Amino acid sequence: MAVNILAFGPNGSGKGTQGAIVKDKYGMDHIESGAIFREHIKGGTELGMKAKAFIEAGDLVPDEITIPMVLETLAKSKEKGWLLDGFPRSLAQAEALDSALKEAGMKIDYVIEILLDRQIAKERIMGRRLCANDNNHPNHIAFEAIKPVEKDGKLVCRVCGGELSARADDQDEEAINKRHDIYYDTKTGTMAAVNYFKGTDSKVISVDGSLPIKEVTAAILAELD
Ligand code: AMP
Repeated sequence: MAVNILAFGPNGSGKGTQGAIVKDKYGMDHIESGAIFREHIKGGTELGMKAKAFIEAGDLVPDEITIPMVLETLAKSKEKGWLLDGFPRSLAQAEALDSALKEAGMKIDYVIEILLDRQIAKERIMGRRLCANDNNHPNHIAFEAIKPVEKDGKLVCRVCGGELSARADDQDEEAINKRHDIYYDTKTGTMAAVNYFKGTDSKVISVDGSLPIKEVTAAILAELD
């Protein structure tokens, strides 16, 4: 049966980088709620227009928009399995996901949690760059292992040479703080969602995100079957 995984970690913890590696191990789909929103914004869709202002401010996009969008995407990946990143971000989303999956006959095999101090996460966020060609090409100006390369005096993607950009919400300190307020909130925020899954049948893998990228990868892979 297909393997399904939830990936948690504050923005800046390396969740996207690790997620791309785990996704390759299982040949599963990598579903990132934030990336789906960014695609919609780029394509000028109605959903994108509704979500844009929330994203730029670092606020959560309302559940009426987010939950159906994610559930629809998961249903399409039922056969292949999926690694879900960026959702659930709140206790309410965790509960909605849990009941929707039960109804759809899907289960979560692993929950990966990358632990990282808030201040370190913030410093890391500002250095990451997005590849125009592939969301799964991690680039970061402060990490040797995933440093962009220089071409014609410009920094380009280290994997494919594609154009790089920084997300507006990654350069805005207020937006970063808001996203982290949501993440580290153990009452109703993302940490509450992580804790919710600690009480289920899914295997929880908690790793130290302050370690070098390769060590974090090794710690995760050692726990996956
Ligand atoms: P990310 O790429 O995960 O940092 O997400 C970028 C932005 O998309 C977030 O700051 C939110 O505005 C929005 N977003 C992503 N996932 C969710 C979610 N599960 N619920 C609500 N908003 C979300």
